[in-house]
Amino acid sequence: MSKQSTIFVCRNCGNESSKWFGKCPVCNEWNTCYEEKLNTKLNNKSVQKNEIAPIALNNVKSQDIIRTCTGFEELDRVLGGGLVKGSLTLLRRRTRNSENLP
Ligand SMILES: [Zn+2]
Repeated sequence: MSKQSTIFVCRNCGNESSKWFGKCPVCNEWNTCYEEKLNTKLNNKSVQKNEIAPIALNNVKSQDIIRTCTGFEELDRVLGGGLVKGSLTLLRRRTRNSENLP
């Protein structure tokens, strides 16, 4: 089964939309919209099976992750041993005004 659909693309920034637009909502340029036809095959054979197969939890190999101690014993414990390079950790300082907040 083959289905043809249309998308509208901004010539300036590449923003894609299912609807035509006179002014691009992303870059705010006027008259940059053009129509592009897509051939979307909705055939099960064309959909590749996941190349990544699930594995049992006991077969998962742990990675050696370098953790940096923060100097706060409790925080390091909560973080699993410290901060991980390249990770993002949100911290919230509790203040007098925030005591009643969730
Ligand atoms: Zn645009």
